[in-house]
Amino acid sequence: MAAWRDELASRLRGEVTRDAPLAPRTSIRIGGPADLLVKPADPDDLAELLRGCRALGVPLLVLGGGANLLVADEGVRGVVLKLPPDLGAESVDGERLVLSAGAPSARLPARAQALGLVGCEFIAGIPGTLGGATAMNAGTRLGEMKDLLSRVELATADGAGWVEARALGFAYRTCRLPPGGVVTRIELRLRRGDVAASQAAMQADRDHRRRTQPLTQPTFGSTFRNPPGDHAGRLVEAVGLKGHRVGGAAWSEVHANFIVNLGGARAADVLALIRLARTRVRERFDIDLEPEVRLAGDFPTGQEET
Ligand SMILES: Cc1cc2nc3c(=O)[nH]c(=O)nc-3n(C[C@H](O)[C@H](O)[C@H](O)COP(=O)(O)OP(=O)(O)OC[C@H]3O[C@@H](n4cnc5c(N)ncnc54)[C@H](O)[C@@H]3O)c2cc1C
Repeated sequence: MAAWRDELASRLRGEVTRDAPLAPRTSIRIGGPADLLVKPADPDDLAELLRGCRALGVPLLVLGGGANLLVADEGVRGVVLKLPPDLGAESVDGERLVLSAGAPSARLPARAQALGLVGCEFIAGIPGTLGGATAMNAGTRLGEMKDLLSRVELATADGAGWVEARALGFAYRTCRLPPGGVVTRIELRLRRGDVAASQAAMQADRDHRRRTQPLTQPTFGSTFRNPPGDHAGRLVEAVGLKGHRVGGAAWSEVHANFIVNLGGARAADVLALIRLARTRVRERFDIDLEPEVRLAGDFPTGQEET
């Protein structure tokens, strides 16, 4: 393993950390180390990294804010890429904003308001980065990323370029990025509107979240996608799992679709909770709950089958 790490480190100008702990870089605070965590210095450095990974056959995982990730206890083999918040030039042209994918999503509303723009209220309470929000088509009942995106800048080992958002198959909490594709910048279209009403909508959303989500505990948000016409949280609660604990992890008492880390939880504990809920919901309701959370890294054989 040393050889490829030395080779990549020698080609890059950005920050390179060996055996970097990933748990502190995820919102649920679980997971082992990355072989190599890389924060590229600029777009050329990123291009060098992507070419290097391809040439050396090293797998690459993009880490945003880690707000929707379950990292394996064994960690992640290969490179974990962490984009800096300001990679690539940002710009504003009327209602069109070009923003860096590594920037925190929560910064967008304030920025929009300062320009007299509205339409991105839904993102205010969603932790993570704009790149992660794009990859996940993050959203709420107020809206989702695909409503705002006009173009996405993608980098791969073959180069970087802008792609029309409609070519990326955005759907409920998902989109189709090319294999190995890294979202580096996004182009959004907002609209002029009532900034005070926009602020009020965000405050109402924040208040609602404080009442209904375990925001003071480490979590990765919704565990399962909502099945058509139903709510995953209702189903998990109906099969008696609200508050159920395995090791250091539990189904939240506050929101039954959230898993929380009560202290010292392992990815294996979380997977056991997920598997139990899927089995019980399948048996009782004949509904197959699909995970929304993304798994990252090397799970022991069988463990990754949630
Ligand atoms: C308390 C809480 C509340 C939440 N509420 C919501 C909600 O209301 N609605 C909602 O949709 N989600 C919600 N989430 C989940 C999470 O915040 C979103 O999915 C968020 O958009 C993830 O962004 P991230 O940067 O943290 O991505 P990560 O978790 O780091 O990554 C998620 C996926 O995106 C990929 N990815 C990340 N960045 C890039 C990039 N630049 N290029 C290519 N791929 C990339 C990763 O490889 C991974 O597959 C919540 C989470 C928490 C903890």
